[in-house]
Amino acid sequence: MQETNVLIIGAGPSGSIVASYLNQQGFNVTSVEKMKFPRFVIGESLLPTYMDLLDEANLLDAVKAANFQEKFEAKFINGDKTCDFNFEEQYTPGWTWTWQVPREDFYKILAKTVASRGVDVQFETTVEAVNFIDDHVVTSVTSASGSAQIKSRFIIDSSGYGRVLPRLLDLDAPSDFPSRSAFFTHFCDTQRPNNIDGNRIQVVVLKQDVWVWIIPFSNGNTSFGVVGDLSFLDETKTNEENLRNLIESNEFLKERIGTVEFTFDPKMISGYSTSVKRFFGDKFVLTGNSTEFLDPVFSSGVTLALESGLLAAKLVARQLNGARVDWDQKLVAYIKRGVDTFRLYVSGWYHGKLQTIFFADEIHPEIKKEFVQF
Ligand code: FAD
Repeated sequence: MQETNVLIIGAGPSGSIVASYLNQQGFNVTSVEKMKFPRFVIGESLLPTYMDLLDEANLLDAVKAANFQEKFEAKFINGDKTCDFNFEEQYTPGWTWTWQVPREDFYKILAKTVASRGVDVQFETTVEAVNFIDDHVVTSVTSASGSAQIKSRFIIDSSGYGRVLPRLLDLDAPSDFPSRSAFFTHFCDTQRPNNIDGNRIQVVVLKQDVWVWIIPFSNGNTSFGVVGDLSFLDETKTNEENLRNLIESNEFLKERIGTVEFTFDPKMISGYSTSVKRFFGDKFVLTGNSTEFLDPVFSSGVTLALESGLLAAKLVARQLNGARVDWDQKLVAYIKRGVDTFRLYVSGWYHGKLQTIFFADEIHPEIKKEFVQF
């Protein structure tokens, strides 16, 4: 049976930051990832707080070298009203820029970097079962070469929507958000404006609870998706027809996107908001989306995945080095504070209050600054 200090489920952003940190601390780390990379993932807009987290885990230079589209601001559009948030006008001093990333490239860079430093990353390997036995954990995995067991001192679940430990240990809890959907594609951005709007993320309000993202990449493609209550889509039409009709129905989208070529048939994800009863237990902890995911509207997912991953990794290192860890105080309370802040923003957005502030004729600069604190 293979033995390792720490087994990590999933090589997404959360699993990669955990792996990088624990490897730097001298632990023997194994990461098992169900998929083969590169592979498509949606959600390409990052937040500046993310930069410090990557830096601390010694991953920032590897991502910098990829020359992703730099992101300095975000623009919100509602009819003829607009609202720009520039990361330089922020409440808490810190990084004033980040990136817009095709996620398949981003995942590959993170996983490749941690593997090059000695983390044993096993792709196309799926966790099937976990047994907690005395002072260790035995995890059963399957891959093309058959079934195997891995013995570890600790297991970290960074499996995102795979929700491996929530499923196996009955930790799943319903989200307090209604089930919303996202419908999206990438397009070949042949009519990208030759000005600041050509490169920045734009969020376009279609109805109070339906909005669109436009996220340009440095590779010439752009991500485009619509989110919210999408029951208005016509089931008798193809995905492509539905998305093209949506573009045609809005003057701004018609002009910005027109009839460009989609790089893949539009996809739909529904009911992505999740929650969990517990974040940790004896010899295990959950990080990133395997705990809670709210909504894409403020691009918080990857940042929370990194923040919870790095913090959990630090606490695991302490515990494995013999210290007593107060997981409730040091992990759960801290992460819940961050998630609850975003929760307030997300509900304020869908209830319309935040949109009233964003699209007011004038926003007090100090209030506006408080929205730019991530
Ligand atoms: P993941 O990225 O899901 O990684 C988990 C990994 O675990 C995967 O690689 C998976 O293959 C692997 N895995 C799963 N099951 C198993 C198993 N049994 N065994 C082994 N491996 C397994 N966030 C942003 O920051 N910005 C955005 O613009 C954004 N937009 C979004 C748009 C939509 C429509 C949605 C639904 C989400 C969006 N998000 C966005 C959220 C973001 O994608 C997630 O929060 C983020 O990917 C979470 O990272 P993670 O590492 O926790 O999980």
